[in-house]
Amino acid sequence: MGATIEALHNLQEIEIQIAELQRRIDRKRDACKRQEKQIAGIDRQIETIRRELHVQQKDSDRLNLDLRAHEEQVAKLRDALNTAKNQKEYSAVLTQLNTFKADNSKSEERILELMSAIDEFKKNIAALEAQRAKEHEKLAELEAAAQAAEDKASDRLTKLRAERQEAATGIAPETLDMFNRVAAKNDGEAMAVIMRTHPRRQEYACEGCNMSITIEQVNNVLSRDEAVLCNVCGRILYAEASATAATK
Ligand SMILES: [Zn+2]
Repeated sequence: MGATIEALHNLQEIEIQIAELQRRIDRKRDACKRQEKQIAGIDRQIETIRRELHVQQKDSDRLNLDLRAHEEQVAKLRDALNTAKNQKEYSAVLTQLNTFKADNSKSEERILELMSAIDEFKKNIAALEAQRAKEHEKLAELEAAAQAAEDKASDRLTKLRAERQEAATGIAPETLDMFNRVAAKNDGEAMAVIMRTHPRRQEYACEGCNMSITIEQVNNVLSRDEAVLCNVCGRILYAEASATAATK
């Protein structure tokens, strides 16, 4: 392995550890985000039920007002019934009275229906609010776990970043830029070892993507101390002595 490739390889070892630590933290942060979405879903459900409840409550209030007004009418008609001057007047008032009474009993039925629906909505809201409280507790636990993971990783990350800085000195800026680009695309895995895929024939593949590599590329990797990229996945290829011994 040439000096440049060896330096890149060192860098990659550090890079992978950084990426792994970062992934562990990201996973915990993602769990928090999923939990927040779940809570937002419950909030939306509660809001929908509240709006429906409000509509039914208004209907019920309006019917109650009507009912009270009608009851006053009924009382007046009862008085009129008592003071009716003749049979004809009596019958007319009685018909009116019965119509009002029938209307009122319909309103009462409807009010009862609405009240029972409103009760049901209130129960649903209470159940959802209890669930939301539980989900909030769970979120607090997840957030604490994510914070703990970050705190735990913090010192190690600082140390690894310093090591990376150190490992990067001496590598040409353009090579380093390329390494960083490939690493960012592949979770820190900027390099891939060349694998021999046939015991007798000189056939090779990139460990990163399992696609075959030409002998010409393998020879380039072995003879030049510069980055040779896999044509398929773009990782920087390197060789371990055992795999390529026969080629030398
Ligand atoms: Zn590849």
